[in-house]
Amino acid sequence: MTGRLGGKTAIVTGAASGIGLCSASALAGEGARVLLADLDGTRAASAAGELGDGCAGIRVDVTDPHEIERMVGTAVDRFGQLDVLVTCAGAFHATPFDLIDPGEWDRIQAVNLRGTFLCCQAALRVMIPRGSGRIVTMGSLAGQVGGLAAGAAYAASKAGVAALTKSIARFAGPHGVTANCVNPGIIETPMIAAWPAEVRERTVGATPLGRVGLPEEVAALVVVLASDAASFVNGAHVDVNGGLHMD
Ligand code: NAD
Repeated sequence: MTGRLGGKTAIVTGAASGIGLCSASALAGEGARVLLADLDGTRAASAAGELGDGCAGIRVDVTDPHEIERMVGTAVDRFGQLDVLVTCAGAFHATPFDLIDPGEWDRIQAVNLRGTFLCCQAALRVMIPRGSGRIVTMGSLAGQVGGLAAGAAYAASKAGVAALTKSIARFAGPHGVTANCVNPGIIETPMIAAWPAEVRERTVGATPLGRVGLPEEVAALVVVLASDAASFVNGAHVDVNGGLHMD
């Protein structure tokens, strides 16, 4: 029961890699029991094993409502409750605007926007009756300014996540559940590994802190938003971008 999240339970989607993995690790490090959920169930399970007895891994495809119900049901069965949902599952693309076909557009929306919606809706079904809960969604700088390297489907999906999170904050706030959105800038994870060096250099050059961020630096904010320290923070959008963009 020690740590800022002692006694709490959490689901993190996209938890096999990058920001999701670091978020799961940080939440567990603060005492939470965490269900690590990812399309790559094998990596989610092995990561959970490394985090300790309180954690478990599960395969989930966030485009599938039935798999999401199973994910939430597994967390409740295993932990007895669900206090925190962190939605990090995400798909990236860098296709030039004029070459995006409808199938690619739909695939990106299905994971990033519809997937976030479905996970939040399923989590709220167990959080609202208990009168408490914390939802942290993963937006993006791309959703604020248009993609610097990302394609338009990605940028639009993340702008959608931002609006979705505000809507959840309005709907669920009266039931004791908060919803907040984190907007990472350029973060060193497999998602940006294929970025052209020139784009990376340009964005680093435009960042006052002069570097890309680390997934641990996003995870640190996730922990705060998931904890009692953020009890009156609801519908907020918090940038983690080194000053690359300031509202
Ligand atoms: P990542 O590629 O390291 O991790 C993404 C994870 O999502 C992977 O483990 C992948 O298996 C999982 N995933 C993909 N599709 C899924 C599906 N249908 N169902 C379940 N899991 C699925 O990327 P990351 O950088 O850690 O990204 C995490 C989140 O942060 C994403 O939502 C991303 O859009 C967002 N983000 C990242 C950056 C960045 O610079 N890295 C910037 C802004 C926002």
